Amino acid sequence: MRYVSTRGGVAPIAFQPAVLMGLADDGGLLIPESIPDVSDRLDDWRALDYPALAFEVMRLYATDVPDEGLRTLVEATYGASYGGPVAPTVQAGPLHVLELFHGPTLAFKDVALQFLGNLFSHILGRTGRRLNILCATSGDTGSAAIYGCRGRPGIDIFILHPHGRVSPIQERQMTTVLDENVHNIAIEGIFDDCQAIVKTLASDLEFKAAASLGAVNSINWARVLAQIVYYFRACFDTCAATGADRVRFCVPTGNFGDILAAWYALRMGLPIERLILATNENDILAGFFRTGRYERGALHRTLAPAMDIQVSSNFERYLYHRVGRDAGRLRTLMQEFARSGALAIDPGPDGVVDAEFVADSCTMDDCLDTIRRWHRDHGYLLDPHTAVGVAVAARRIAARQDAGSPIVCVGTAHPAKFPDAIRRATGRDPAPHPAIDALMDRPTRCAVLPNDPEAVRRAILSALA
Ligand SMILES: *Cc1c(COP(=O)(O)O)cnc(C)c1O
Repeated sequence: MRYVSTRGGVAPIAFQPAVLMGLADDGGLLIPESIPDVSDRLDDWRALDYPALAFEVMRLYATDVPDEGLRTLVEATYGASYGGPVAPTVQAGPLHVLELFHGPTLAFKDVALQFLGNLFSHILGRTGRRLNILCATSGDTGSAAIYGCRGRPGIDIFILHPHGRVSPIQERQMTTVLDENVHNIAIEGIFDDCQAIVKTLASDLEFKAAASLGAVNSINWARVLAQIVYYFRACFDTCAATGADRVRFCVPTGNFGDILAAWYALRMGLPIERLILATNENDILAGFFRTGRYERGALHRTLAPAMDIQVSSNFERYLYHRVGRDAGRLRTLMQEFARSGALAIDPGPDGVVDAEFVADSCTMDDCLDTIRRWHRDHGYLLDPHTAVGVAVAARRIAARQDAGSPIVCVGTAHPAKFPDAIRRATGRDPAPHPAIDALMDRPTRCAVLPNDPEAVRRAILSALA
């Protein structure tokens, strides 16, 4: 399998160089040249355990990693050492929840980032290269990436988060990791500023090469790849539990990474009837799937901060496919968006932007009410991100908009990670979690820098000197 850029300016490359490149050198995103159809293999895959399933899915895309090496990688990541079950699906009232929050930092990002850390070490081990990770986080990616890379020889990791705008728990999950190769930087700005700084530095190809910069945010294809696997697991498990032959997935969305993986799974032939995209008040993506117009608005701060994003870094991958894999057309649209803050495509003659998607958004009142109701009626405690998805899915069920196959809501974080929202919704504290309690009296380390790419560039160079 070879990888090309959405903007058409990178000669096709293999999987391992694509993983190291992160952002494509022409400013686009790397995508596989084709999507393998596995519909005739599904029956063989149903009974596989998680590492074996991950091996089967990943070997189709990571064709330059020998089978033996890949088997070792998925075993090391998803075997007994993972810490908890990787991707169990449980019933909660009329819905199913795919619980992806049993990894070390209690959010779904662990599933991919535990793998990516191991993958980086595997690739570097063979090339003797160094890698310096630069990543912006709205809260959860940072800690998951730090836990994936801490203490690894040959890797330094620089994580930018918006100063004072991540939750105290999220902040401590990052800043209490004192390994020498971990560098936390708080930027005086919002998440989009952090993401813009990363983009500026990673687009400076001279600096990128000199500082061996790599990426762990979901612009890195390996993350999307690792996430594809759990949609297979959840679809198989839900079909087995309910007797259904297909499912719908409802995915709370910020950077369009998680739902993009679901879309790839669908395109690979997994029987997914529909993807339900759920946003909070930052509803630029929901707007696109309703009208064809993608327009940046003002940022709303919500109780689901990992989804407080206006410009979704992975949307470009989807849009590339939506415009018929036409890199020239995509380039024009992205330039238009950079210039004016909006882009638009023609919905079909029936006004449907994409029949595989439906999209809706949820207010914070709605989110709190959903947490309260699910706790009261079904004894299930939702974190505020998962609750955004559940609110949107429950609304569809109530309106009988698409009665049919079971809905699996992606559970993106453990409720113990967001106690303030839980308290507001239910009047009670979530059950304590040992991983959270342990953070509170540990020492921390973090630098605060102005919202300026040059300040971050200097910090990286001096750390590496
Ligand atoms: C990152 C994150 C999301 C959004 O996922 P995307 O891949 O950015 O769409 C949702 N919920 C939680 C808890 C997250 O950490």
